Amino acid sequence: MNTKTEICGAKKKDGVCMNEPVTGKTRCRLHGGLSTGAKTPEGRARQAEANHKRWSEIKLALALYRAQPSG
Ligand SMILES: [Zn+2]
Repeated sequence: MNTKTEICGAKKKDGVCMNEPVTGKTRCRLHGGLSTGAKTPEGRARQAEANHKRWSEIKLALALYRAQPSG
């Protein structure tokens, strides 16, 4: 039967997700069918570093902003 309708079925606020699941998975690409992040320690470290770097830049920008003389 190739008329079988396979859907993701993830709960949404207005029902269930009707997207097709990723091949070999039970959920669509929006609901966890694809990789959701780095899994190797190396990949995770790289992500953490990128995240840290981003926050450092935000903090620096905030510090500079606050250091400006109020006027
Ligand atoms: Zn879905």
